[in-house]
Amino acid sequence: MSAAAFAKAVDRNPAFARLVNRHSLALFNQAAQSVACNRLHTLESRCARSLLMTHDRIRMEPFVLTHEFLSYMLGVHRPAVTLAAGVLQRAGLIRCTRGKVIVMDRPGLEAASCARYDTTRANSERLIGS
Ligand SMILES: [Zn+2]
Repeated sequence: MSAAAFAKAVDRNPAFARLVNRHSLALFNQAAQSVACNRLHTLESRCARSLLMTHDRIRMEPFVLTHEFLSYMLGVHRPAVTLAAGVLQRAGLIRCTRGKVIVMDRPGLEAASCARYDTTRANSERLIGS
């Protein structure tokens, strides 16, 4: 869809416009939470948060997520992600093999994640549903 066609669809359909606005707000909230998280929390907890958010969206296992792509998501070098994922894996929370991730212990991964995960998920569910 072109940008012009998208803008026209938003102008002509108030329900679609509300949905777009709610998604935009959810995305802005998520970005703001990520900025705070990147400044305040450990790489392991940020890694756990990113894995949970990906798990929420993909809803299947295993899901494809390379350490390289996760390093882009977290804004760190890939070897740092390998170390953080190793901590989570040795704790029995995830299993990583060949760019695929399996969440072995979701409650444990949630406990390892920073509190921002719950805040972001609650905001997103409030705005756009689960
Ligand atoms: Zn955090």
